Amino acid sequence: MDNIQRRDIFMGMDDSVDSSSKGMLQTKEKENTTSKNSSGLEKIEQGAGRVRVDDKSMINSRADVNQLVPIKYEWAWQRYVDGCANHWMPTEISMSKDIYTWKHPTELTEDERLMLKRNLGFFASSESLVANNIIFAIYKHLSNPECRQYLLRQAFEEAIHTHCFQYIVQSLGLDEGEIFNLYREIPSVHDKASWALKHTQQLDDPEFHTGSMENNRLFVKNMIALYVCMESLWFYTGFAQVLSMGRRNKMTGIAEQYQYIMRDESLHFNFGIDAVNQIRIENPTLWTDSFEKEIIQMIHEALELEVAYAYDTMPRGLLGITAPMVDEYMKYIANRRLNQLGIAEEFPNITNPFPWMSEVVDLGKEKNFFETRVTDYQTGGALDWGE
Ligand code: MN
Ligand code: FE
Repeated sequence: MDNIQRRDIFMGMDDSVDSSSKGMLQTKEKENTTSKNSSGLEKIEQGAGRVRVDDKSMINSRADVNQLVPIKYEWAWQRYVDGCANHWMPTEISMSKDIYTWKHPTELTEDERLMLKRNLGFFASSESLVANNIIFAIYKHLSNPECRQYLLRQAFEEAIHTHCFQYIVQSLGLDEGEIFNLYREIPSVHDKASWALKHTQQLDDPEFHTGSMENNRLFVKNMIALYVCMESLWFYTGFAQVLSMGRRNKMTGIAEQYQYIMRDESLHFNFGIDAVNQIRIENPTLWTDSFEKEIIQMIHEALELEVAYAYDTMPRGLLGITAPMVDEYMKYIANRRLNQLGIAEEFPNITNPFPWMSEVVDLGKEKNFFETRVTDYQTGGALDWGE
C-alpha cells in the first residue's frame, strides 16, 4: 500500500489531494444527451476493434465494458487489489468477552447500552443501503470496467459488513427486529437514511442516464452523498463511539470488527472521491461555482443530521464523547474531504476532538489491548496496515 493510502487509514482521513490528482488522465469532454451507458449486456459487436485506453472514460464511455484491460485508471485497480488484501470475515472474531459484558448487570451503563443498540441499528441498515446504491445506481452509470471491478469488491465488503451486524445481534441475543428496523423507528437514524436515499432514488429511475450535464451532476451528487457524507462522515461518528468502548476494554469483539470495517470504509470513500475527481477532469464544465455550492450545502445538511443522531444516541454524552464534540469531529473530517475534492475548507479553526482515533485504528498496536484472535489473509500480515 502506498504512503498516501496508509496514512488515510491511519488517520481515518486524508490530508492531501494527492491521491485524487495522481494518475488521473485528461480526456476530451463530450456532452452526450442521447446515448445510454453500456451495461455490457448488449449484442456483441462481432469483428469490432480492440479496446484502446483513450476510448475509456468514467461515464458515457463507448468502449466495451466487458474488457477489463487495457487498464486506464490504475488507482481504481489498486483499490480493488487493496480491498482483496484486506479480506476478513466477522465470524473469525470471538464474541465471548462481549457476550459476558453484555449479559453482566453492571458492566455497562444504560447510556452505553442505548448508544450501542442505536449505533448497531444505524450501521445495520446503512450497509445494505450502500450496497443497494452500488448495485442499482453507481454500477450502472460508471461505464468503466476497472471501476466496476472495484465496485464488485466493494459490494461484497458491504455484504460482509451487513453479515457483521447479523453476527453481533445473534451473538449478544439482541432483538433483531429492534436493531434492523431501527432506521424506521428512530427519527434521527431515519432522517439520515432518507436523506441519502433522496440522492439515490433519482438514479434508480429506469429513464435516468448520464450524458446531459444535469444528469452527470446528479450522478456526482449521488457519489458525494454515499461516499463522502455517509461512508466518510457519518460512519466515523459510529466508529468513534464503539472504538471508545473498545479502548476502555468494553465490547472489544465488536470494536475489533469495527476496526476492520473502518479499514474497508477508508478504501471505499477514497475510491469514491477519486472517481468524482476523475469525472470532474473528464467533464470540466460539470463543475460550476453553483454546483460546488450545492455540494457544500450537502455537507452542511449531513453534519446537521449527524448532530441530531449524536444527541439521540448519547443524550448525556458518554465515554468522553458528547454531541458538540461529534459536531467538531464531523467538521474536522469534512474539511479534509473538501480538500480532497479540491474545495476550500468550510470550517475554520477546527481541531480533532478525538485524537485517539488515529491510534485506535492501528490494529497492530491494539492487538494486545483487545485480546482477540487475529486471522491473516495476506501473506506477511494484513493487519500491519501496510507498514
Ligand atoms: Mn460498509
Ligand atoms: Fe462502504
